[in-house]
Amino acid sequence: MNLVKVAVPVPLRQQFDYLLPEKKYIAPGVRVKVPLGRRQTIGIVMGQCEKTTIASSRLKEIVAVCDSEPLLPACLCDFFEKVADYYHHPIGEVVLTSLPRALRQAKPLPPVSCLWANRQNNPALVLNTKQQDALKAILACLDQFYCFLLQGVTGSGKTEVYLQAVAKVLDQGKAVLVLVPEISLTPQTKERFVSRFGDVVVCYHSQMTPKKRLEAWTRVRQQKAPIVIGTRSAVFMPFSQLGLIVIDEEHDPSFKQQEGFRYSARDVAVWRAKLLGCPVILGSATPAFESLANAKAGKYQLLVLPERATQVKPPEVTLLDVGQQKLKAGLSPLLLAQIALRLEKKEQVLLFINRRGYAPTYMCLNCHWLATCPRCDARLTLYSEQSTLVCHYCLFRCSCPPRCPTCQSTALQPVGYGTQRLEESLKAHFPQATLARIDSDATRKKGYLEEILTKTKDNEIQLLIGTQILAKGHHFPHLRLVAILDADGGLFSADFRAVEKMAQLIIQVAGRAGRVHQAGEVFIQTSHPAHPFLRALFKQDYAKLTETLLDERARCHLPPFSHLALIRAYAKTADLPQKLLLHVQKGLAPYLHEAVKILGPVPAPMLKRQGYYHFQLLLQSSSRRALHQMLGYCTPLLEKSTLARRTRWSLDIDPQEMF
Ligand SMILES: [Zn+2]
Ligand SMILES: [Zn+2]
Repeated sequence: MNLVKVAVPVPLRQQFDYLLPEKKYIAPGVRVKVPLGRRQTIGIVMGQCEKTTIASSRLKEIVAVCDSEPLLPACLCDFFEKVADYYHHPIGEVVLTSLPRALRQAKPLPPVSCLWANRQNNPALVLNTKQQDALKAILACLDQFYCFLLQGVTGSGKTEVYLQAVAKVLDQGKAVLVLVPEISLTPQTKERFVSRFGDVVVCYHSQMTPKKRLEAWTRVRQQKAPIVIGTRSAVFMPFSQLGLIVIDEEHDPSFKQQEGFRYSARDVAVWRAKLLGCPVILGSATPAFESLANAKAGKYQLLVLPERATQVKPPEVTLLDVGQQKLKAGLSPLLLAQIALRLEKKEQVLLFINRRGYAPTYMCLNCHWLATCPRCDARLTLYSEQSTLVCHYCLFRCSCPPRCPTCQSTALQPVGYGTQRLEESLKAHFPQATLARIDSDATRKKGYLEEILTKTKDNEIQLLIGTQILAKGHHFPHLRLVAILDADGGLFSADFRAVEKMAQLIIQVAGRAGRVHQAGEVFIQTSHPAHPFLRALFKQDYAKLTETLLDERARCHLPPFSHLALIRAYAKTADLPQKLLLHVQKGLAPYLHEAVKILGPVPAPMLKRQGYYHFQLLLQSSSRRALHQMLGYCTPLLEKSTLARRTRWSLDIDPQEMF
């Protein structure tokens, strides 16, 4: 029999076998039209198949072959199989969703121009000794898979090392993939590469029009794009002659997709490099603990850039104990005085607060009633516009009640500070200063973020208030003072990664200060100035901090010293998800492996969300192989359970968040 395996866009963890129309050969990567139930759909041939478990009477024939040449290179088909396997995700969804929309139908590739001829080689910067050492190590491994962890403090010139390595790769006629965590970082990164190499850069991210995405994808497929800069989905582009992958800000949680196909673009990029036989550079000022552990274990080579490339000294950090102080506008009097001083000298100030809205809590002073979401176990955030209350988890909104629903008192008040309230009180305090707020509410308006970033670079904004969007590697050459207003958030969280994320965030924000001309200053407001974590941050000693925290993780068998998989289930009533997870837990009993611990089912940290009750079952193991074997038994249990019809579930391998 002449059979092929086809990936089709259905949520099933399998490929489908089809008969070839004539005794033709169809190469992997070719699109075909196939019958599927009562309809027809476009699928991708993944390979030949020797035999099938489907009865010959039920075997169906391919209806049409859409491509004369494979759309996907064969190595990409292998890669998709590996990724789908690892994440236990339906292969058809992995393959088909990686394609631009037009190609999911049978449309042909559009004609595109080749960018290789536009290449320039503008002069490189002079490297310091550490940068030279790093570059030398990378260049020594250009024709093979090798993973480098480039740890460089902010301003240490990591990008210059990337650029000089990229120059050599382009000389070999091979392409380069650069992954950044956020779409907002692509213009700035593109600018650096274009000014060095000319108009040879192609961007790829979800905010591009379908036409532009198709064009970019086609350029890569035809090997007409020397440099690709993109967010996580760019890792699935159809490269065949790839010479280097760079993952900038590799610690950033945005590299992990949090819904649907929950892959880590960083981890997937490392496998891709391995399959294509090229080196990969993970760059960060604050590497993820997983990456540091990999370096320690000898899997990655650690390259350290300990100094700023320019002569600017690192910022001076001051911890402000605000436990006993009366704050004005959410700020300590000393900090306010410092800001006034900087503004007087026409210098830039950044205030970081990771809470958007006007106030995170709305409370009755009489009976202590708190405004909470009717659909989530969460407080409602107060927004000043039309005095509305909004849930950040399910977007529920209502107008502020005129009286307390419990005691009818009118003494209702906002408690705490969000970005909007801070903006309001700073405007009142410093009426002369130009001020801008950057959070996901403000940046929803198209072009707003770019506009503010440009104005900040041009020194047209003096006071910048923002959330973590500001921590993401943007360059602010005129910034002198950075204040972190709520450093205590991560100290007492139930999430074992909270301290790691908080440390990365704080060091990244602090790194924005004093980048070009002068040393900067950093103020951290805290109620716990003696906390060892904040002491280490105060000394800007990320290495010491990671060492302590990694020891703690090792003692508790937490990642990177064990591997996790989280099964989440949720439904309109609390009994269904519990029943489904218990069914899985019982179903696994015959296959229990001593190296795998099964914990739960337990309620999720936020039990009720969007009107659904969330429960989870956690699988933990020191052996990845054993864990994946168990997961192989889990998915059929979940898929075939009658409970799964009324309960939604998802499987998250290497979860970044335990919600
Ligand atoms: Zn009340
Ligand atoms: Zn809600």
